[in-house]
Amino acid sequence: FEPWNDPEATPLIRFWNVTKKFGDFTAIHDLSLEIFEREFFALLGPSGCGKTTMMRMLAGFEEPTRGTIELAGQDIAHVPPNKRAVNMMFQSYALFPHLTVWDNIAFGLRRDRKPKDEIAARVEEMLKLTRLEKFARRKPDQISGGQRQRVALARSLAKAPKLLLLDEPLGALDAKLRQDTQFELMDIQEKTGTTFVIVTHDQEEAMTVASRIAVMDEGRLMQVDTPDRIYEEPGSVYVADFIGDVNIIEGRATPQGEGSYRIDWAEGQPPLTARSERRLAAGQTCYLAIRPEKVAITADRPADAANAIQGKVHDIAYLGNLSTYHVRLADGQIIKAQTSNRRRIARRQFTWEDTVWLSWTATAGVLLEN
Ligand code: ATP
Repeated sequence: FEPWNDPEATPLIRFWNVTKKFGDFTAIHDLSLEIFEREFFALLGPSGCGKTTMMRMLAGFEEPTRGTIELAGQDIAHVPPNKRAVNMMFQSYALFPHLTVWDNIAFGLRRDRKPKDEIAARVEEMLKLTRLEKFARRKPDQISGGQRQRVALARSLAKAPKLLLLDEPLGALDAKLRQDTQFELMDIQEKTGTTFVIVTHDQEEAMTVASRIAVMDEGRLMQVDTPDRIYEEPGSVYVADFIGDVNIIEGRATPQGEGSYRIDWAEGQPPLTARSERRLAAGQTCYLAIRPEKVAITADRPADAANAIQGKVHDIAYLGNLSTYHVRLADGQIIKAQTSNRRRIARRQFTWEDTVWLSWTATAGVLLEN
């Protein structure tokens, strides 16, 4: 399932050079983006980057100042919210407290004056989909938070929208329930074939559920890609740093031919070696982004590592399955190395102030220009 790589595929949603201003303030800058049918698409970025504004334009609560938004080939800029095949599920769920679960799910269908038996059949289908059959007669205050979340989802899907917008849908759930619910959400999305666009602060959540992630910053798209490419092939320091843990080493690149670069980086340190398909000029400032799990930590200097540097253990974070070592170099720079704790003895492989070697291969890091 990779419609974004299929030149024949037509997108369900198309933002064309969309700018959104609130008075003098530009919340979205000339943004173009395509989202395909059946995608589970995540908008990710820090507070204020414009995620909610994007959702509100899709839902029809805001109009773009410039540019167009198409849904299934139709310009929807001036189509009112209730005339769009789009539904939005809010973080607060906005369930009706005085109505039963059944009636909450039926609400939109009744308002559309659908025939009674059609409503009943659809509600039963939604109850089954969200595993709420047993709770149909209860009111929202008589069920758990996770169940309320499923009622909200069932209600949002009852009218079979083409597109469902989810604003922090799991924000109210605790960490453990949140993880289980992520898988449930993916399952329901797949079963219904509805296109989901989710806004979340939680990068792990976006990585888990999304087919593709758009990373935004200050109203601009920084990168749109699959979760693994966002993680493995970030296009900028901003994206590398936003998703997951990363070491950023600043230096100057010297091309050595065949995509190989020498990087001079810190006083008294041997130059690093990195490979990249990017073309960097001699002497250009560059940034090597390298994930802590790609940095090996050893007591002795590894025999044939492309990159090996020495330092002292400064801090250790024991995370159960993993340990992260913060290693201080001679110039005070900290490099993080992560080991997986498969064996029980791994917990104290190294201790504070141990002298250790950090090493990685020439292709372990991503060489970035900005
Ligand atoms: P959060 O994660 O905190 O919800 P967000 O990424 O969803 O943030 P938006 O709500 O889209 O951000 O807001 C983007 C920017 O636009 C913010 O700087 C915000 O202050 C501004 N903004 C949003 N709505 C309005 C409005 N109605 N009038 C003026 N400024 C607005």
